[in-house]
Amino acid sequence: MAKLFIPGPTDVHPDVLAAQNRPMMGHRGADFEALFAKIQSKLRQVFFTQSRVYISTSSGTGLQEAAVRNCVARKVLCCVNGAFSQRWYEVAAANGKEATRLDVEWGQAVKPELIDAELAKGGCDALAIVHNETSTGVVSPIEDIAALVHDRYPDVTIMVDAVSSLGGMPIEFDGWGLDVLLTSSQKCLAVPPGLSFAAVSDRALAKAKEIPNRGLYFDFVDLEKYLIKNQTPSTPAISLMWALDAALDRILAEGLAARFDRHAQLAKQVREWAQDRFDLFAEQGYRSQTVTCVTNTRGLEVKSLNAFLKSKGMQISDGYGNLKGRTFRIAHMGEIQRRDIDELLALIDEFIN
Ligand SMILES: *Cc1c(COP(=O)(O)O)cnc(C)c1O
Repeated sequence: MAKLFIPGPTDVHPDVLAAQNRPMMGHRGADFEALFAKIQSKLRQVFFTQSRVYISTSSGTGLQEAAVRNCVARKVLCCVNGAFSQRWYEVAAANGKEATRLDVEWGQAVKPELIDAELAKGGCDALAIVHNETSTGVVSPIEDIAALVHDRYPDVTIMVDAVSSLGGMPIEFDGWGLDVLLTSSQKCLAVPPGLSFAAVSDRALAKAKEIPNRGLYFDFVDLEKYLIKNQTPSTPAISLMWALDAALDRILAEGLAARFDRHAQLAKQVREWAQDRFDLFAEQGYRSQTVTCVTNTRGLEVKSLNAFLKSKGMQISDGYGNLKGRTFRIAHMGEIQRRDIDELLALIDEFIN
């Protein structure tokens, strides 16, 4: 039974945990290469791509850094509608990249017309956007945004953070024409923290080759050199890769369509419950399938609620940053099943009454 209703790390299935518990092997040999190749082909299915998916021994923030270092030549437009998109802007600035912000009210999605107006001003060669803002429970319409960019700004590199949605919602890297799509191990993929993944398009890789100061650890050109040998440039978290392999087997055995549908059903259940008792923070039509941000209209003490839940072995998340206390978040991603949500919501009802 699931106990972590927080947007990462999520509960890890015992089989996946157990897969880590194997004798160590070297990372420059046939056994490792076989593992890497197996994982690579499964990751491509989950990312809906025929392209490469780099495996990084870092959390997702490392790949936010990789994206800006490898794919921003002049200036990046950072869409900011919550804490994680703001982080990406800060990452770009910290790496010395020229970055301009498109600020959207927290709780609202980033709409194509807003991006159109910003890109029309000229000067940006890359776009950074978060698919699922984990701080507000908002999904932005990436497919429509990518279509707009392809149509009107074909030279702009499209970089998407799907850390809290990939594996829980369909995101079609090839079909939508994305350039960089990144995620972390510890959210919808339900692997322990410590790995992150980025699908990278041919054109993004070609662009990276022309960009100076890509750094060393996250250099796409170097990652590519090793990926084609089924290796990584430096020592990877091999135990986590065993876990990942087992988790990807679980994901593909469930079936991606069934998995997305399960997440959609859980989101519907939590939203209906929340609307009867509270309110929803995210704007209608753009509500997340993996995490629900509840507006705390009853002024519940989230800390006490969580202390009560903890006594029952469960945990939810308080609001993020300024939203602490004013909202709370229930994640329904990864391994969570309907009966887990039933149990959680019944306990919160018990607390309210
Ligand atoms: C969790 C999260 C991150 C940060 O990922 P780490 O793996 O903790 O570095 C970035 N973006 C979003 C949308 C997230 O939910």
